[in-house]
Amino acid sequence: MKESISDYKFVFGIVPSRRLGQSLGISPIPKKTCNFSCVYCQLGRTTKYSHERQLFFKVDLIINELNNYLNSIDPSQYDIITIVGDGEPTLYLGLGDLIKRIKKIQDKPVAVISNGSLIANPQIRKELVMADVVLLNFDSWNEQSFRRINRPLKSIEFINRYKGYIEFRKEFSGIIYLEVMLVKGINDNIESLNKIADLIRDIHPNVVFVNVPVRPPAEQWVKIPDEKIVIKAREILDARRMDYLPTGDFTSIESDPTKAILDIIGRHPMREEDIITFLKGRKSLTNIEEVKDEIIKNLRKNPKVQEIAYGTTRFFRFKT
Ligand code: SF4
Repeated sequence: MKESISDYKFVFGIVPSRRLGQSLGISPIPKKTCNFSCVYCQLGRTTKYSHERQLFFKVDLIINELNNYLNSIDPSQYDIITIVGDGEPTLYLGLGDLIKRIKKIQDKPVAVISNGSLIANPQIRKELVMADVVLLNFDSWNEQSFRRINRPLKSIEFINRYKGYIEFRKEFSGIIYLEVMLVKGINDNIESLNKIADLIRDIHPNVVFVNVPVRPPAEQWVKIPDEKIVIKAREILDARRMDYLPTGDFTSIESDPTKAILDIIGRHPMREEDIITFLKGRKSLTNIEEVKDEIIKNLRKNPKVQEIAYGTTRFFRFKT
């Protein structure tokens, strides 16, 4: 089960997303269940390497929880429901059913964030076309670079995934966002970027985003590329930058601020500034500095939480 201490096991947020706006998240899989172990993963190294689709939780359970959550918020608080998972959401066997039922009970669009590992499978594509937005990552240009950056399970081949992306574009009339995560010294040279750009042309995504590892990565050696090369990458890939896009505020319907913060960092590393902004959004709180100090003290004492320095910033996140 997940590490969250909130009463909600599957629904979380609302989390500000650089690409999607205020996003209400749904995680239908156990923490860090993935068939990749990307070097830049903000959840840390993959602990449950799995390639088998499973009905980890009943769709009914997730929908009941979502119904309760939606009854406790104003619909204007969120822009989209995002199935994201603390790992790879297409590993959830009930994905198609889940998307269908989310769309039945509310009107906002549904997004799925996936690593695309299973997209060569026609059944997966059949389920993904039910979404309105699909976000896929594409950081590599051949088998070797794929293994170096994303570290997929052996059976997942670069070329099959790539062909699956092309097929999916033909079948899906919704929005495809493709994200290229740049890792210094690996895929941030002109030659690699040109190769990635050539391949992307045949995928025809609606928008390409260039991202950099702004949050603490799984591997300490992962570094953000130089500013000049990020600008160049944007040009080569005809992409928008993600790290410049505005983010909103974290919100949670959990009334206890300490629990709310723990719930958020279970899925999304937070900086001290994020915690302060979150607390400022709580109209009932007057002594924000005191509450913030108390929360940070508790986070530092919590054996499940780690405080990590990354670049010039300190983050709190769950240990993996
Ligand atoms: S970044 Fe996504 S795909 Fe990569 S290891 Fe983390 S959860 Fe899996």
